[in-house]
Amino acid sequence: PRGEPLGVELVGVRKSFGGVHALQGVDLTIEPGTVHAIVGPNGSGKTTLLNVISRLLRQDGGRVLLGTEDVSRATAERLARHGVARVFQTPRLLGASSLRDNVLLGAYARERTGGTATVLRLPWARRERAELTEEADRLLADLGLAERADEEAAALPHGEQRLLEVARALMTRPRLLLMDEPAAGLTPRELESLGRLIRAIRDAGTTVVLVEHHIELVASVADVVTVLDRGRLVTSGSPQDALGDARVVEVYLGA
Ligand code: ADP
Repeated sequence: PRGEPLGVELVGVRKSFGGVHALQGVDLTIEPGTVHAIVGPNGSGKTTLLNVISRLLRQDGGRVLLGTEDVSRATAERLARHGVARVFQTPRLLGASSLRDNVLLGAYARERTGGTATVLRLPWARRERAELTEEADRLLADLGLAERADEEAAALPHGEQRLLEVARALMTRPRLLLMDEPAAGLTPRELESLGRLIRAIRDAGTTVVLVEHHIELVASVADVVTVLDRGRLVTSGSPQDALGDARVVEVYLGA
């Protein structure tokens, strides 16, 4: 990563869509260097929370801090410069490009935000290009995709396209990685790779915020689990405590 892992603090964050109160005053601290899972039933405000942190949405009230910096008014573009990366629910890949080139795109994003994009096109940057390619190939190998590095991304099964997106986000060397349901549609084997990958990302010095329905994955990778229900925080704690909480069982049973 390009620096220390980045923590997040939300203070009284509210967001409504017309009459729908998606977030109703959320106070939440995400400690740097942790995997912090956000769970809750459909419509509880999880994606809205990610959108507010990544500044795709502006909150109606309350404050958002990244590390010590108040980003309540910052735009999504500025956040990339702070080392915030996001993996979306639907992969956004270049289908006709190779797996390796898709991952390398992440490095270009990192150079662009660092202001030295052109460096990569100059002949004396050959060594740097080789290093980046090595880094991309290493990430692909971690995901079990090494032998397919030269294949077109479009040829990959859906689950592996999602893993490829994670690899690309990692090439930006983020200090904070936001993941929106990365486990959706993965096979058991891919799920295992994803779990290992998420832990490795954290151990390498990146804070991970994980919105996820797959409770076994959450239980196996999260340091902290926060449960939302109808735009409010129900509880936050270790996976054991949070997922075992009687109020949480109620939320999931719709009681
Ligand atoms: P979750 O991710 O937990 O399923 P969301 O954050 O997507 O929940 O949605 C929370 C609530 O806000 C839901 O009632 C949803 O319908 C509503 N909502 C989310 N985004 C929009 C939007 N762009 N326009 C209108 N309503 C929205």
